[in-house]
Amino acid sequence: MQNFRNIEILTRTFDELPVGVGIFQVPDPNDIKSIRYVFMNKVLLYEMRKSSEEVLGKRIIEVAPEAYEHEGGIHVIETYRKVAVEGGSANLGLVEYSNHMVAGTYECSVHHIQDNYVYVMLRNVTELEHTKTELELKNEELSQFVHLVSHDLKEPLRTISSFTKFIESEYDGKFDEKTSQYMSFISESTVRMRNLIDDLLDYSSIRKGNKMKEVDCQELVEVIQQDLEAVIKDTSAIIEVGELPKVQGFQTELRLLFQNLISNGIKFRKPDTVPKISISARKEDGWIFAVKDNGIGVADEHKDKIFGVFQRLHARSEYEGTGIGLAHCKKIVELHDGAIWMESTPGEGSTFYFRIPNRL
Ligand code: ADP
Repeated sequence: MQNFRNIEILTRTFDELPVGVGIFQVPDPNDIKSIRYVFMNKVLLYEMRKSSEEVLGKRIIEVAPEAYEHEGGIHVIETYRKVAVEGGSANLGLVEYSNHMVAGTYECSVHHIQDNYVYVMLRNVTELEHTKTELELKNEELSQFVHLVSHDLKEPLRTISSFTKFIESEYDGKFDEKTSQYMSFISESTVRMRNLIDDLLDYSSIRKGNKMKEVDCQELVEVIQQDLEAVIKDTSAIIEVGELPKVQGFQTELRLLFQNLISNGIKFRKPDTVPKISISARKEDGWIFAVKDNGIGVADEHKDKIFGVFQRLHARSEYEGTGIGLAHCKKIVELHDGAIWMESTPGEGSTFYFRIPNRL
């Protein structure tokens, strides 16, 4: 009696689980048409729009023959058979399922129970996928908007710039001291504004474009060192490069990422200290890269803020820049489904870390 009650409780628990759970029997490991439904919980039955009487004990071929009519369906059923024979688990990832009543996207995995038996876990992610697509479209719209606005903003800027030049040539440099100071404020601001807009344009153009490909980070960093030769020479910077891996990614964007981090390491050096940058990578949950410097460092309270657009901690007179470099870095890393963060001891230096999932 006690035993019976336990089975009842177990069955009810599985039945009420908020994810789809189903048990299949594979009587003949050489025949995918022999596979039978042993148990389907409520969520699974709902997704199939079937009652338990319609499926339990029946073969899939009897209940859902359409599953054998396309590659996707056969792949799923073949996985049941394989896991039943070989044991272990198989993650099917996102699976499209449809019959004459439903159509959707499901996250699906198959797990071995004992000889000839597997269980399947299923989660309906149709809505989630739909929202993701909508979000991508909205992001795309937003990028285009920024792009358009940036172009429009440049137009009046060009007018200010050219009229300032007209006035200057009209007066042929005969301004009094004050006026000439005002004129140079206007010119400097115009240049700054143009730089900000250019940066904004670059920022809005970082998006999933070309396909990812294999990128050799060792080579990438070598090329960047050549590009930065002038500043490296001027500052006598020492760049140490450890063994860097190949990753699956967007080449141009990854180059911009390394370049920003390395040039920041040089830019934010301590006065009277030779800048030293070390670049390394270690394999963990994906690849974790580190760009370490011996510069001025960043106080704890600013560690998150610096990754925002146009966020800077210093006056322009101290360090050049518009404050978009790290925002770029963040966007690029997120484009690769990774993350970026930093650790720092003010006065001693900073290490910027970023993780890129290992897709190779
Ligand atoms: P920018 O370099 O144009 O100012 P960034 O977005 O690259 O903009 O950096 C934002 C701010 O973060 C910088 O103004 C600086 O205060 C801080 N920062 C970035 N990198 C470093 C670094 N390696 N060491 C110290 N501070 C840094």
